[in-house]
Amino acid sequence: MYFKSSLTALSHAMEDLVLNDSDTPLVIASFQRERFYRQESHRYKRIARKSDQVYVLAAPETEFSNDSIDYETIAFEPDDALTQEWHLVIIGQHYASCLICRERNVPPPENKYGAVMDTNRRFEGIWTFDRAVTLKAAQIMLDRILIYRPELASKISQARNLYLASPQDNSKIDPPIESPLTNPDPFVQRLVTYLQAGQYKLLKANKSLAAKQQKEQLLNSVSDAVRRSLNTKQILQVAVQKLGEGVGVCRCIIYRCQENDAFATVDREFAAPGIKSVRGQKWQLVNNPLFEEAIAKKETISVDNTLSDERLTKLAWEKGTGEFFQNLIQNYSIYSCLLVPIFYHSRLLGVVELHHCETEPIAWKPDDIALVDAIATQVGVALIQAQAYADLEDLNEQLEALDRTRSNLVAIVGHELRTPLSTIQVCLESLASEPDMASELSQVMLDTALGDAERMRNLVQDFLTLSRLEGGGVEWNIETLSLTECIDLAISNVKARNHGESMPQIHNLTTPEDLPLVQIDGEWLVEVLAKLLDNACKFTQADGEIAIAVKTNGGKILEVTVSDTGRGIETGSLETVFDRFYQEEGALRRSAGGTGLGLAICRQVVKNWGGEIWAESPGKDRGSIFHFTIPIKATKNKSQASTSRAAKYTAKQKKSNKKQKN
Ligand code: ADP
Repeated sequence: MYFKSSLTALSHAMEDLVLNDSDTPLVIASFQRERFYRQESHRYKRIARKSDQVYVLAAPETEFSNDSIDYETIAFEPDDALTQEWHLVIIGQHYASCLICRERNVPPPENKYGAVMDTNRRFEGIWTFDRAVTLKAAQIMLDRILIYRPELASKISQARNLYLASPQDNSKIDPPIESPLTNPDPFVQRLVTYLQAGQYKLLKANKSLAAKQQKEQLLNSVSDAVRRSLNTKQILQVAVQKLGEGVGVCRCIIYRCQENDAFATVDREFAAPGIKSVRGQKWQLVNNPLFEEAIAKKETISVDNTLSDERLTKLAWEKGTGEFFQNLIQNYSIYSCLLVPIFYHSRLLGVVELHHCETEPIAWKPDDIALVDAIATQVGVALIQAQAYADLEDLNEQLEALDRTRSNLVAIVGHELRTPLSTIQVCLESLASEPDMASELSQVMLDTALGDAERMRNLVQDFLTLSRLEGGGVEWNIETLSLTECIDLAISNVKARNHGESMPQIHNLTTPEDLPLVQIDGEWLVEVLAKLLDNACKFTQADGEIAIAVKTNGGKILEVTVSDTGRGIETGSLETVFDRFYQEEGALRRSAGGTGLGLAICRQVVKNWGGEIWAESPGKDRGSIFHFTIPIKATKNKSQASTSRAAKYTAKQKKSNKKQKN
């Protein structure tokens, strides 16, 4: 049994026997297919110069046909058994040798590499220097040739006379010159050389296979590592580390960016020992020819030599980024580089860069580029996966918060509604069952029932208001008006509500002349101011003070502050006071009244007009300051606007005060 490479070596050694001898032999070579013959045709041209009795057989694929130019070519039918066979018959005066083989049907290997597949072919048959066997083989082959090319009858008959007429055995030959039979060394030498060459080819194929396997392993290990993590930083660090080490470059970096970013910061890096780090460096992306090309083509950009590449030596200077690249090349010795954009469904997620820092530039191989591309794709998928996970976590948190709010709401509603309801019920039952009750006591009962009914009404009212604000169900009535007048209105509103009770003093520190008009929904503005003032009153002792001030920030924003000298807010609660149902004492142990929805309503309203609201406090019992902002957009005449609004609000406020008293 022979492997294909051994048969090739043997055939070449036999052909060389002819080429290196002075004999004029009969040569019959049968190739299975035209393509196998084509690789050897140049040798047969040379052999034909030695003898005119040369016959080559093959199954045609493109051009091969019956012919008699240099030697006789015989095109046999594709279904002829010869397509499965490999023959070489050589008969000279000094030697006779033949190779008669049939290819074994070996199932095609699963390996996809061509070189290995070819060496896998196997043949069964004989190779001999036995003259009698060789003559028999020649006889059979000539018979076959005659069937396909009957016109060669006389030439074939001549061959029979010359080479096959008197079969003699090897011992009877009298070799006048050296032949493989007397001195096998040259033949063996040639055979060894061909086998060595075959071996070398195999070695090369194995090497390239090993390199491919190594790269596949690298790709798999990077994909595996990055896909296993849901932490973006970890994914990027694993990717640069493995890629840098695996491809064997001096530096590998990744920066996150989007297509229109002007700059990016190098946040992950692998640097080989002794290589200067670029981590934390700002990378210019705008007018960067490499980045722009990578984005436009959506593919990896390679620079073999940064010192001579026109994109860096010419184009970058024209675009104004020449200096940036010059500094990079000089400071960080980047002599060759690869820039690989990480895309996910056409969305740029970042860029991987590989740097080669030795003065001798390298030529990036397509294989390396393909590998880095494949890894970048994997990193892209992993990043999106991590992003999706983070979004999911966010969503979960929001859901949990919603759930907490829901439970809170149930608790609040349960408590806030049940408690006053029971009180109202007890009071009314007592009044009904005891008609003789003393008039002072029945008055107290009635007042308590009415007070609790009012508390319930406020809670329901605030809750509905907040729902409308959050659900976008509020119709905003934007008008041009004077802020000072709204403040005055809010103050008188609060004072009216606390009529007859001792309350802290409220100072309006605004000076109307200095303030521009604002375009805003006046009713809601008064509502926000009143709620902040109500809170300030609620949490400040009667002998304390409250002040309202306004300042303009750069002429584009008005900042309103409501400060008090009351109980203050703990630093940790400055943000949470704006949450729904936040109350320092806890929802169910409230002493100061209120619904816990006031500041949440304020935040929604301020957010709607494009402003911000926040709280400050120097600490417990040292007062609080609430700030909110209003963007300035008004252009209308000041006196006109304020007059109409003031009249309207005053009328409205009188109505509301009257209602309050009743
Ligand atoms: P409430 O109806 O309970 O006042 P808010 O949303 O208006 O609801 O306020 C939430 C919580 O914020 C209050 O219960 C209180 O603990 C705190 N708070 C609000 N304003 C002040 C302030 N001026 N001084 C101290 N604490 C305040």
